[in-house]
Amino acid sequence: MVAESVRTAYVRVMGKKNILICGAGIAGPALAYWLREGGFAVTIVERAPEPRPGGQTVDLRGAGRTVIERMGLMDRARAESVDQRGLALVDASGRVTARLPADSFGGEGIVSEIEILRGDLARLLYEATLPDTEYLFDDTVTGIDQDADAVTVTFEKAAPRRFGLVIGADGPHSVVRSLAFGPERDFVHPIGLHTAWFTAFDGLDLDGWFLMHNAPGGLVASARPGRLPGEIKAGFSFRSPPLAYDRRDTAAQQELLARHFAHVGWEAPRLLRSMRTAPDFFLDSMGQVRLDSWSRGRVALLGDAGYCATPLTGLGTSLALVGAYVLAGELAAAGGDHGIAFRRYDTVLRPYVRQAQQLPPGGAAGYAPSGRLGIRLRDLSMRSMTRWPMRNLLAAQFAKAGDIALPEYPLAADHESGFRRGPANV
Ligand SMILES: Cc1cc2nc3c(=O)[nH]c(=O)nc-3n(C[C@H](O)[C@H](O)[C@H](O)COP(=O)(O)OP(=O)(O)OC[C@H]3O[C@@H](n4cnc5c(N)ncnc54)[C@H](O)[C@@H]3O)c2cc1C
Repeated sequence: MVAESVRTAYVRVMGKKNILICGAGIAGPALAYWLREGGFAVTIVERAPEPRPGGQTVDLRGAGRTVIERMGLMDRARAESVDQRGLALVDASGRVTARLPADSFGGEGIVSEIEILRGDLARLLYEATLPDTEYLFDDTVTGIDQDADAVTVTFEKAAPRRFGLVIGADGPHSVVRSLAFGPERDFVHPIGLHTAWFTAFDGLDLDGWFLMHNAPGGLVASARPGRLPGEIKAGFSFRSPPLAYDRRDTAAQQELLARHFAHVGWEAPRLLRSMRTAPDFFLDSMGQVRLDSWSRGRVALLGDAGYCATPLTGLGTSLALVGAYVLAGELAAAGGDHGIAFRRYDTVLRPYVRQAQQLPPGGAAGYAPSGRLGIRLRDLSMRSMTRWPMRNLLAAQFAKAGDIALPEYPLAADHESGFRRGPANV
């Protein structure tokens, strides 16, 4: 039971409508950036003690890249991007069986022209929201109670507070979604793949290539160059229905991964040894998030929490950045009327999301074939990707990133379009 003094607490901060965002990954800080530009006061609650490092490189492509340009962050993103020569498939002995150079699709292929480490992008966006965004790290939302005027939010650690709106940007296992929309099983559709990412420092020389090894049993091990000398970003995927494991027990998850890859060759044993001391080990079951509506009253979902497409599409970052821009823009354009803004957010964004959620041909089985024949076919198709008809198929997949006409909104700092209006009338 929330105290009456909290229920009647002021919902405006210095005359601005206040908005709580849950999750400081990619989508959360991007939204905070644009909301501030739209004249809102923003608080972000994040379960991790600081912006989460980790992950491999993510691609800045299409409309996602345009949003970064409009934020005026492109120079910094370029400065922090990781130079990669392309993707190469290797067999168990390390022999290259197929190569796809980065420039073969004009910088818009599997490895895009601007590849930035996910952790670097999250930090860059976080820094862009300082100093006027309030962060509550090492905390989470435990309760959401809406009434006609506002949402009362209870936290694990902080005292309860009232907010005008609450946005769930807390990833595919969103707690905001569970509290306001219903249980995860109603919205998350597993694609039958688990993926782990971690940073390894062990001197493995990749010569600038993103190396990937497919092994029988639907297993994929990969290593990409990091930004720092000697830094390797390792990725391991295995096919399996969702498994029950403790999300907080890293050692148990590492054991699980080591068991799956116990007999895999190439550099997998070496990378798995480094895994034990990795500072940023992360394992998750891959699933697409689908909802008929991304809002319930004063609560809305953004990024992976609302429409995770899975890393197989290469479009998750674009969806998060574009979603943040559209949501903030519609709120500013509607003068803070969330009913109108959330409807428009859905109308503008849904066709883009629908496209992005179509998995590449073969889905998880195409990425992680289980038999030797499937692996040979994958090599073959990778070798022919720069030629017709594979070239057109792949180009169509990545062209989806640009498949939205970004509206112009009354957001003060639209650096690219030179848009400059006053804050929204809230
Ligand atoms: C550690 C990590 C590594 C990743 N690596 C890759 C990668 O290599 N390649 C790739 O394509 N995609 C990767 N992803 C996913 C990718 O970041 C997203 O698909 C995409 O960028 C959309 O971003 P998002 O902000 O919606 O979700 P995320 O980037 O997942 O951000 C969600 C944020 O919410 C926080 N959070 C979760 N639950 C709670 C809670 N209950 N309370 C408060 N905060 C919460 C998380 O700690 C996280 O900071 C990774 C995600 C994470 C978290």
